[in-house]
This record gives sequence, structure tokens and C-alpha cells, in this order.
Amino acid sequence: MRGNDVGHTGMDADVVIAGAGPTGLMLACELRLAGVDVVVVERLAERTGESRAGGMHSRTLEVLDQRGILDRFLAIGELQPVGHFSGLYLEFDEFESRHPYPLMILQSDIERLLEEWAAELGVRVRRSSEVSGIRQDGSGVTVELRTEEATPATLRARYLVGCDGGRSTVRKLSGIDFPGTEATMTALIGDVELPDLPEDYVWVRRTPGGDYSAIAFEPGWHRVITSEFDRVADRDETPTFERLRESLVRVAGTDFGMRNPRWVSRFNDAARQAARYRQGRVLLAGDAAHIHFPAGGQGLNMGVQDAVNLGWKLASVVRGQAPESLLDSYHAERHPVAERVLHNTRAQSALVRPGPQTDALRDVFSSLMVFDDVNRYLRGMLTALDIRYPVDGSHPLAGRRVPDADLKTADGATRVYELLHAGRPVLLNLRDSTEVAAAVAGWADRVGLVEAQSEDDHWLVPALGEIPAPAALLIRPDGHVAWAAATDGTPDTSALRTALATWCGPAPRG
Ligand SMILES: Cc1cc2nc3c(=O)[nH]c(=O)nc-3n(C[C@H](O)[C@H](O)[C@H](O)COP(=O)(O)OP(=O)(O)OC[C@H]3O[C@@H](n4cnc5c(N)ncnc54)[C@H](O)[C@@H]3O)c2cc1C
Repeated sequence: MRGNDVGHTGMDADVVIAGAGPTGLMLACELRLAGVDVVVVERLAERTGESRAGGMHSRTLEVLDQRGILDRFLAIGELQPVGHFSGLYLEFDEFESRHPYPLMILQSDIERLLEEWAAELGVRVRRSSEVSGIRQDGSGVTVELRTEEATPATLRARYLVGCDGGRSTVRKLSGIDFPGTEATMTALIGDVELPDLPEDYVWVRRTPGGDYSAIAFEPGWHRVITSEFDRVADRDETPTFERLRESLVRVAGTDFGMRNPRWVSRFNDAARQAARYRQGRVLLAGDAAHIHFPAGGQGLNMGVQDAVNLGWKLASVVRGQAPESLLDSYHAERHPVAERVLHNTRAQSALVRPGPQTDALRDVFSSLMVFDDVNRYLRGMLTALDIRYPVDGSHPLAGRRVPDADLKTADGATRVYELLHAGRPVLLNLRDSTEVAAAVAGWADRVGLVEAQSEDDHWLVPALGEIPAPAALLIRPDGHVAWAAATDGTPDTSALRTALATWCGPAPRG
């Protein structure tokens, strides 16, 4: 059961991923696209079908577009005209992205679609297999699994990635600290029927006892959330339908005839982040690396984007093209992203507490959000469109996600994200520069050279505004710019070679 493109001995797989949630599945697909042999081990016998996350933001939609699978998600999701910051409406800008909207889609559907894609790519998913032990040495990791069999099974791989959620066993077994802030509130959530909900009901209602919301997800079904503050539920207190009903009555004064629960759960505003995303041959991604209040719906998005940042790097190292040190850039780039999300969710949780001081703060905040600059700033942060990784280079695009610009090539019209479907780095030569084409020749086995022209003279970049279209770009498989040349002046091909060696590994001899 190997289906392997990479030669090695004594290994069951190149990479074992713990957890078949959205992060683990996305990572598995990224690794398979790059020809890496991967096994996903999942504790549960089957997908839970729990709805959980309710949407995806622009950057995640772009990432799926970069792999050519976005249509599957758009076909079942619902576009939302606005987003929100702590329940305060946020406008989107149709020119900042081809997908300038949140897509309402349930996590259960996202997981199903990712699992289908994984199956198409030949990912092996081994269910009823719970990681219970880890031993790493110089050449690999031995992963112990608790299964339905009497004796524990083991898998040997070169790397293990813990995508096993907020209570990550992989993180704990690796001794990675998880510092952060404790919960200060309890929220109960349920997918239920609400026959007595008034028709004029909209969005979040704040009351002196807390707040509640009821969002229509599917005809006849609502997602009800109640938040109560300064009361933190015990970990072993089971979230039940009755507790949700009691909480709704305390906060709203009625249960709106609530009945027929499909799913009831609980969350809080604890915010923690792994001190290190890598410990030798063990890495962490998604909720295993960071947990926070689900305000603004950022957790799943961040997990998928962790996976897309890590996948191509791990594949390059496994294939022997890049040195192991490339993996350190995963922590360097993604740890600050989650740090900022934890920060903004703490702010959002402060903004929903009951009381006249918070009411006043919300009023002030709402009046600020009328300003375009404030909207742009918050929008960039929530959608993750404004992320800039610490990549060398003075060009304004260096480190940022590349816009999905329209292009002309000798073979016809295309756009930047279509060029990224294979998950390979691309050198986009937009001014027919022979120096640029010559510089990449040594990396022809791993970098695609595309000769094209930009349809537009200027590109709109979130957080920057309009900039002149560049003369050439080295785009990493995750869609971030590793090197760019401006149209005025000669392309710095020495910096291009350095970027190629940094992100794609040293040029092969020969
Ligand atoms: C109410 C609520 C609403 C949310 N809304 C949004 C939203 O709108 N947008 C958004 O982006 N995010 C949202 N989130 C957050 C989102 O649900 C999580 O961030 C997301 O599930 C993280 O995905 P993951 O794959 O990292 O972890 P998980 O989804 O937790 O998956 C981890 C997997 O690992 C498995 N596992 C655990 N331990 C082991 C083990 N030892 N061995 C093998 N397998 C193991 C688990 O069974 C599970 O399948 C919301 C969360 C909640 C609670």
C-alpha cells in the first residue's frame, strides 16, 4: 500500500499526518501533489459530520483557487455580502481579490470535499488509529498507534505532522509548550430548529446577561450560540441540549421553541499558541498549533493556510532538494500570523462583554469602521490578504501573496492562479527578459518558467493599493512572492538566484 514516488528504505511513508480535519487533509493533498508518500492517521472511525466552522475567507478561497478546486466549494457554499469584526459589519472591496466575500459553508462539507480531493490524489487515510506514542531519532519518527486491534501498531516515517486539533497529543508528546491566556467565558452552540424565532431577527443580540445569535444555515435549521461571561464551564461538564436551552432562556428570556438538536457543543475564549511549530522531525499545524475564540471565523482558514505554507517546504526537504533549514521558515512565517489572530480575537472577545462600558466602546468602534482605512485594515487582517512574510527584497510584493492578475501568453489568456495548480514554484517573466530566463535555467527541474504579459499596467494589492505590474516574479507554490523585479531598471538576477536557492534549494550540479 505504498504508491510512492520517492525512494527510501525502512519507512512506511515519507510523512505521517495525525488528524484528518481540514488542516491534515489539506496538508496531505499538498504533499501528494508534490509526489510525497503520505499517510493520514485519524482517531475517529468516520467523519463526525459536526458542522463547526461556518465559513471561509478570501485568502482561503484564493488558496483553493490556486489548486483548481475552488469551484467544488463555491457550488455548495453561499456568498456573504459583508463580513464582521466582533459582530460589527465590515465592507469588502471587490477589487482586492477575485473572491471579495466570506463563503458560508459548513466545516462538515469542507472536510468532505477535501477528503474527496485527497482520495483522487492517492492519499492514504487510516481511520480508527490514534497516535499514542512518538519516538524520533536522526533518520525518522516512529509513531505508535492505538487501533481496534489488541496490539498497538507502529508506523515509521521521516516526518510527523500533528494536525490533531487543540488538545493535540503530538504537541504534548513532543513536549512543546502551549502558553496563552485562560478562558473568561463559556459559549454554547447548537444546530437546532427554532420555530418561534421572530422574522425580523438579525445577527447578534447583546443583553445584560451575555449575547446570543441565531444564524439560518439551511432551510428550517438555525445555529444558535449563547455566550455567558465570567463563568467558565468545567472541562468535564457535558454540553447538552438542555444546558443550551437554559442558557438561551437566561440570556434571551425565551428558548424560541428550540427543538430537535443535530449537534450541541461548547467553546470559550482561551487563546494559546505552541511555542515552537517544529521539534526536530515533528511539526504542528492548525488547531494543534493555535487555539482562540472563533470570532470572525479565522481558525479553519489559518489551519488550511498553515498546511499550504508547510506542504511544499516539507516536500522539498523530503525529496532532498532543499536543506532541512527550509522547515524553520514555516515557524518564522506562520507563528506571527497566529499570534496576530490570537490578538485580534482577544480584542473581539473584549468587545462582546456585556455592560455600559463595552456598549460605549462598540459605539466608538462602529463609528471608526465607517472610515475606509479602518475597514481596509480590519478586512486585510480577517481575510489574511494582507500577510507579508519576512522575505528578502525591497519590491513591495516581496513576501506578499501574488494578486491573481490576468495574463496573455503565446498559448492564450490565463491568470496567475491557474499557473499554480500543480503546486510548483513559477517564474513569471512579464517583460521577456533573457537575463531572467537564463537565471532560472539551473532550476528547470523544479521551477516552471512562464513567458507572459500582464493585461493590466497596475495591480491592486491589499494593504498597499495600486502598484505598477512587475517585470518578473518568482512565485512560491503557496502563492507568495519570493522575488520581484520592477519595470524600471534591470532585474537583479543575482538576488533572483539567491531567492531560487533559498526557496527551491541549491541548483542541481550538472
Ligand atoms: C463554534 C465554532 C465555530 C467556528 N467557526 C469557524 C469559522 O467560521 N471559520 C473558521 O475558520 N474557523 C472556525 N472555527 C474553528 C475551526 O473549527 C477549527 O479551527 C478547525 O476545525 C481546525 O482544524 P484542524 O484540522 O486543525 O483541527 P480539527 O478540526 O480539530 O481536527 C483534528 C483531527 O485530529 C483528530 N485527532 C485528535 N487526536 C488525535 C490523535 N491522537 N491521533 C489521531 N487523530 C487525532 C481528531 O479526531 C480530528 O479529526 C470554529 C470553531 C468552533 C468551535
